[in-house]
Order: sequence, then C-alpha cells, then structure tokens
Amino acid sequence: WAPQLSDTDIPDDQPLSDFLFDDELRPRKCAECPTPFIDSLDGSGCSIEETKKRIDWLAAGIANHLGITDTTGDVWDRVVSIFAVNNVHTPVLAWAVHRLNGVVAPANVAFRASELAYQLKDSKARCIFTDASHLGIAIEAASSVGIPSSDIFLISIPADTNGPTANIQSFLNLEDLVEIGRQIPPLPRIGWEKGRARKQAAYLCYSSGTSGPPKGVMISHRNIIANIMQMNLYELPFRNGNHEEVILGILPQSHIYSIILTTHCSVFRGDTVVVVAKFELMSLVKAVRKFKMTMLYIVPPILIALIKQGALVKDPTEFDLPSVRRIYSGAAPLSEELTTQIRARYPHVLLGQGYGMTESATVMASHPREVYDGSSGCVLPGLEIRLVDADGNDVEGYNQSGEIWARGPNITLGYFKNKDATAATYSGGWLRSGDVGEFRPHPKTGDAHLFIVDRVKELIKVSGFQVAPAELEGHLLSHSLVDDCAVIPVADERSGEVPKAVVVLSKDAGCDHRTAEREILDWVSKHKSKHKHLKGGVDFVSEIPKSPSGKILRRFLRDREKARQAQ
Ligand code: ATP
Ligand code: MG
Repeated sequence: WAPQLSDTDIPDDQPLSDFLFDDELRPRKCAECPTPFIDSLDGSGCSIEETKKRIDWLAAGIANHLGITDTTGDVWDRVVSIFAVNNVHTPVLAWAVHRLNGVVAPANVAFRASELAYQLKDSKARCIFTDASHLGIAIEAASSVGIPSSDIFLISIPADTNGPTANIQSFLNLEDLVEIGRQIPPLPRIGWEKGRARKQAAYLCYSSGTSGPPKGVMISHRNIIANIMQMNLYELPFRNGNHEEVILGILPQSHIYSIILTTHCSVFRGDTVVVVAKFELMSLVKAVRKFKMTMLYIVPPILIALIKQGALVKDPTEFDLPSVRRIYSGAAPLSEELTTQIRARYPHVLLGQGYGMTESATVMASHPREVYDGSSGCVLPGLEIRLVDADGNDVEGYNQSGEIWARGPNITLGYFKNKDATAATYSGGWLRSGDVGEFRPHPKTGDAHLFIVDRVKELIKVSGFQVAPAELEGHLLSHSLVDDCAVIPVADERSGEVPKAVVVLSKDAGCDHRTAEREILDWVSKHKSKHKHLKGGVDFVSEIPKSPSGKILRRFLRDREKARQAQ
C-alpha cells in the first residue's frame, strides 16, 4: 500500500479557495456536503453554498474599507492578522483575504500585547480581526504599531468568552463587512497563470516559538493544496464509508496543524468540524458525546488529561467516547506508553499519529493502514525524506537515527524577511527539520515507519550518550504518581549533562515529595539504561509550561534551572 502523487497531479494555477470548492477535484460535490463548521455552543454554521457567497461579500467589504479596488499588486501590502479564539467565521475570513489577493497572518491567542505587536510589525499587517475577549490586547498592540483602531474588526462570537474588555459598539464587526460587501459589486476575478499558486503566499504562519522567538513562515497556496491532497490519499482508507466525519475542532485555528486538518482538509472532503473555543476537559468530552464526533485531531496534553483525569472521576462512563472511531495526535511526541494506555481505555478507537512542522505546511508523515505504536507514520506521497548525520552524510537503513531533511510540494517558501534563517533551514532545496528521527519496518506490513526521537537541540548529552527527553517523559507519564512532566538537562561535572525531571504530582498521590522522588527515580533506574537515569533529581511543580499547540516549553524550565545554578 503506497499511494502515489506526482507533482503534475497538484494544481498550481488556482487560489486555494477555488481548489477547495472545485467540484471536479473534490471527493464529493459541494451541494452534497453538510455544514462545514458548526459552533459547539449553539450548533450554528453556514452551508458550503452560503460560505462561498460570504467569502465574496466579506472580501468586497474588507477591500472597500481598506480602499482596495483590484485583485492584483503586492500581496505583502495586504496582510490581515487574525487574533481570535476558535470560531466558525475564521475559515471564511481567511478565504476572503485570499479573494482580495492578500495574506492571512494568524496570531496565537495566548499572546500578550507586546508579542502581538511584534508579529503585527514583522508581518506589516494592515488590519486585525479579533474577538471581544481579546479586543483590549489587540487595541494596545495595534496602537503601538500605528494600526488605527478603525482597522480593528470584531468577529462575532457567542458571548462565552470572558466578556468584553473595551467598548465593542465602536468597532465594525465581520457581519457589518459582509453586509457592506453584499451591497457593492464583487471584486474582479482574474484567472491565475500556471505556476502562480507555487509562489504566492496564502498564509504567514508563525512557528510555535518552542526553541526561540516564533518565525514567520511563508506558505504558498499550493503548499496547502499539496498537503490537502497528500493527506487525503492517506486518510481515504479510514473514511467512514461514504459518510462524512464529524470532527473535533479544538486545535488552535492559528496553528498550521489546524489550518490543514480542521480547516482545509475537512471542508475539501465534505466533513463537519465542531468548533470549540476553549479547552476544558469535561465540556470537551460532553461536546464529543453530544455531537457524536467520529474523529478527533488532538495533541498529546489532551490525551494525557483524558487518561489521568479520566482515572479520577467517580463515574468513568462519563469519559466513554462511543461515537469516536479515530483519534489522531500530532505537534508533539506521543509516547508508546501513552498510546498503550489510550488503546486500553478506548479499545474501539484507532489511534494514529502524524509528524510535521509549520515549515512543511504541516504533515510530512502520517499513520497508514496499520498503525505502529510510537511511530509518527509513513512519509506522505510526493515527499522525499532523508536522515542526515552530524557530518552531513545520509544515514541508510532501519534503526539508524539522523536529522530529518525533507523536499516536496508542501515544503514552504521560507521565513519572511529573514534571509539568513531561510538559508540555514532551507538549504539546497531541502528543509532541515531540526528533528532527529529513524525508520523502523512495521512488523506486519514491512512499511517504513518514521519514529521521532526528539529535537536535535533538545537531546541531552550524558558522557557522550544521547538521551531524548521525550523518551523519558513518556516513561514517567506511565507512572500513576505523575500527572505531567518534562525532562531537561542539568550541568554535571562528571558527565557534562544529566537528565532531571520536572513533575506535576498526581492529585491523589497521598505521599510526600521525598517518597515520590524516590519512587520516580526507581521507576527510571529499573527500566532504563544507566545514562538515562535521573541523576539531576526531580523537581515538583504545579504546571508544565506548554504552547497552545501542546508542546512542552522546555526552554523556560532550562532557563529557570540555569538561573538557579548561577545563584
Ligand atoms: P519553533 O520552530 O519556533 O521553535 P516549533 O518547532 O515548536 O517552534 P511548530 O512548527 O509548531 O513550531 O512545530 C514543529 C515541531 O513540532 C517539529 O519540528 C517537531 O519538533 C514537533 N513535532 C511535531 N509533530 C511531532 C510528533 N508527532 N512527534 C514529535 N514531535 C513532533
Ligand atoms: Mg520549529
């Protein structure tokens, strides 16, 4: 089983939104498909036909407001920032921005004003769409970079989100712009010449900022079209026959994982995404049950919460997920141990994993027909992957690790206004991922599965051996005393570096920190080789810092540790 996709199969002469609604290319015609996005709180949403009209109207409304009359010119003069919690309007807004020949720059809702201001300035955003609960931050950030408050718009969202922080009435909202656009002539439509979709940016997505400040990645229309087609081929065998999937929309809409899987792939295939604004485990589980969701795209912290909190509830049936057929995890390591726990708790569910990064317009590997615990799946069709060692030589064969380099139609255009970083990361036509991986053959099918070891820069070097924090974190999480954890290096005179665990102790641990530390140290010593032992000890904390896309921000813990050692 090896689906093929050649470069010529991927269109390069149409904008993304034309591709999405092209009945000739879609697996199912638009008219046969259900509402693509519905709100988890009130079930509201628009049909595909209505969505298409709203894209045109909203594009005309925004263009009218900004004084744009044509659909030509420099796309980088038409960057639109979206800074809002998940909502059903964001996809339409993004496609409207493309319709007026602009670029969408989504911003992380966890941002403070200074972080948003940095991104607004870096991307030269013309205007901002936000929601009531983020308006205050948007106003502060906008004013510091010279965006007038008349160019801040509200996306109407049911009043669930912490209440307004500024005078809402004085801001135009998305519906006002749709109404304006409905009453004026649509923007001119011009055909795209061959190859244009390869070069023209659709999104400026910022990486998660795990290793340093977020970087703006220029993602072309065709990068996204390519990844939709690649993923579509991979997911076909798992489809619910001819029926649509009902998909959980909890991934942050500003992150590329959501942009591909719960914004574009879903609408192209004719599925419904139930959009959830905020993560709260119990209401999430209730929503999954209420909407009879069949497919969950999530990140490891949600799986950890399902297992750990699910074990504590009085009535465990409340955590049953009978409608779910498939769970897909990505964006951060999902350990073999956690996979086993999920499989035991939800035996009817197929649990798969994918691997990708913003720079690859997300997915590079995804689980095929047969899953393999701990693996991030097989390389997507149309993409080439090399594993390269520290001396720049290709690593051949199975069970040999090297840095993952990738080349293919979903590899993005580079970093915005950052030639040096682009040259270093996108080198000689290959994207250097900064992640260490290795291939192992599936025991039954023989398919080559990609296992992610960890980031090159996060590996802990203990007396010349490399220790992957992700491996130890997976092991620690399988202990009942550990609710969450991170592993970081600490300096050591003899070994150079040694691993240290930072642990959130289980709420019903019922023992003191010293006893818990001894248990945890033993748990590692018993099951892992010597260089992996937690010679740096164990720290107890109330929370592990994570990005909204579910990544452990180990750099914060490392910095804190260094500061402590310097004292
Ligand atoms: P920054 O580049 O700003 O430091 P980031 O790399 O976390 O942030 P993203 O582009 O959101 O930003 O994340 C991509 C990274 O996520 C990958 O390079 C990899 O390290 C990690 N990742 C993604 N999927 C997986 C997976 N299945 N297993 C392990 N790690 C994964
Ligand atoms: Mg990165």
